[in-house]
Amino acid sequence: MPHPNNSTLSTLYDSDVFRMACRQYDLAAEMIDIPDEALERTKYPKRCLTVIFPIRRDDGVVEMYEGYRVQHHLSLGPTKGGLRFHQSVNIGEVAALAMWMSWKCALVGLPYGGAKGGVKVNPSSLSVHELEGLSRRYMQEMIPFVGTDTDVMAPDVGTNEQVMAWMMDTYSTHIGHSVPAIVTGKPLSIGGSEGRREATGRGTAYFAKSYLNEMGIELSDTTVVIQGFGNVGSEAALGMVEYGAKVIGIGDHTASFFKADGIDIGRALEYAAKNRVLEGFTEAELIPNDQLLELECTVLIPAALERVIDENNASRIKCQVLAEGANGPTTNAADRIIEERGDIEIIPDILCNSGGVVVSYFEWLQDLQSTYWTRGQVLKKLKEILERSRLSVEEERRRLNCSRRMAALTLGIGRVAEAKHARGIFP
Ligand code: NAD
Repeated sequence: MPHPNNSTLSTLYDSDVFRMACRQYDLAAEMIDIPDEALERTKYPKRCLTVIFPIRRDDGVVEMYEGYRVQHHLSLGPTKGGLRFHQSVNIGEVAALAMWMSWKCALVGLPYGGAKGGVKVNPSSLSVHELEGLSRRYMQEMIPFVGTDTDVMAPDVGTNEQVMAWMMDTYSTHIGHSVPAIVTGKPLSIGGSEGRREATGRGTAYFAKSYLNEMGIELSDTTVVIQGFGNVGSEAALGMVEYGAKVIGIGDHTASFFKADGIDIGRALEYAAKNRVLEGFTEAELIPNDQLLELECTVLIPAALERVIDENNASRIKCQVLAEGANGPTTNAADRIIEERGDIEIIPDILCNSGGVVVSYFEWLQDLQSTYWTRGQVLKKLKEILERSRLSVEEERRRLNCSRRMAALTLGIGRVAEAKHARGIFP
């Protein structure tokens, strides 16, 4: 039983998405034997930093921005997690994403705790110069809180390799020498890893293919719908096309498109690279955004934001495999509806999109050792870890007779709880 004092913990993070992550934790923790004394301390984020900082806009005006970093636990090593630039990010969302990073890293066997960061900003409203100022100033504010052995950032929604390069440069300038291991997802020229950019999306496609194979569905008979056409969504699309599937639906925050005989993903990528968004793409039929997730398809890949499949649309999605490229795309209520339906295989986020953090780990290792792996080495090691993790989830699922999401969570949570229990509490 939680101590009465614990019921007042963490009002700081209170939000739909934080409650969702906590509820998932509670359900998974109930299924495994976590010692009482480790129950609450495994659940809640250890610490966070909120910063409010200025940048000077190109017209000379000084504007203030709010940013966060949440480190969930440091029991297994440094924390690891992305940095999000989005206008609606808040500390509760960041805390939930940090929790999921913890379970994900433990599930795939990385020596990391989870973390996440965010700045409340619409990055497309800034010029490149302003974005650089924002990225550098955020890192400057974070210097006392991060480090190669403490907390290592990576790209997430609204950030990319260039943002990571500015952050690495800011940190290195402060320290006095190059510190490539301070962030992952950097350009290759400054210590990035082969295979990192495509790791999350290609990993998602890899898992989708594995489950389709098990279900006896031919890739050539497979249709795919993808929400989100950034790093994860576009790489997942390319991966699925490479496997022989047809991507019939894509969308971003500006527009969604359908084409029954398959969208030319190369052309869509060219268009998005030139225009920054899909809006205005003419080589497929424009459809309302809310219809995208409800298109009939074999594989549905949400690769945008959290909580897009909820109690309102869960009964209407028409896929056989739901491959969660995004973090937290399916609410707990939607999970229950899909489980009752019994006709959809869910590949849960902490397994499905884990390829990204696995190659981030490889990048960190290469940077710490000042060495570089070939693309072949990266992909071989990545595949080994993804497949081992997938098989461990299937085994846990059989052992506990539970959903795939619960199996993934119990493995991740169980490993963190075990480490915390073994280390004990500092008196
Ligand atoms: P990104 O910024 O590169 O792309 C995000 C995409 O989502 C964009 O195309 C954007 O237009 C779209 N989008 C945003 N709001 C939307 C909306 N309301 N409706 C439809 N589309 C919308 O971000 P990303 O790195 O591809 O991340 C996508 C998801 O994958 C996030 O949940 C992120 O946490 C998760 N993820 C990313 C990585 C990584 O390596 N980048 C790793 C693991 C998980």
